[in-house]
Amino acid sequence: MARKVWACKTCGSVGQTGSAASGSCLIELVLWMCAIVPGVIYSLWRISSRKSKCKVCGSKELVPLDSPEGRRIRDTVPPPP
Ligand SMILES: [Zn+2]
Repeated sequence: MARKVWACKTCGSVGQTGSAASGSCLIELVLWMCAIVPGVIYSLWRISSRKSKCKVCGSKELVPLDSPEGRRIRDTVPPPP
């Protein structure tokens, strides 16, 4: 399955994005060690807030490249060489 290509509304870059989870692995680990319940809650929050992020500027304002707005961004900004 091909990964979806996104256009960033913030910086105009186009490309595939990793799905970066918010928050920190370290905090998650500490919470798990201190108490199970906050660890579970934090893990659930991280999973639920997992979103595609722009690789260039970290913005979450992404639109699919095959959408009208994605095409507009692609036509405005020349692709990197
Ligand atoms: Zn961007």
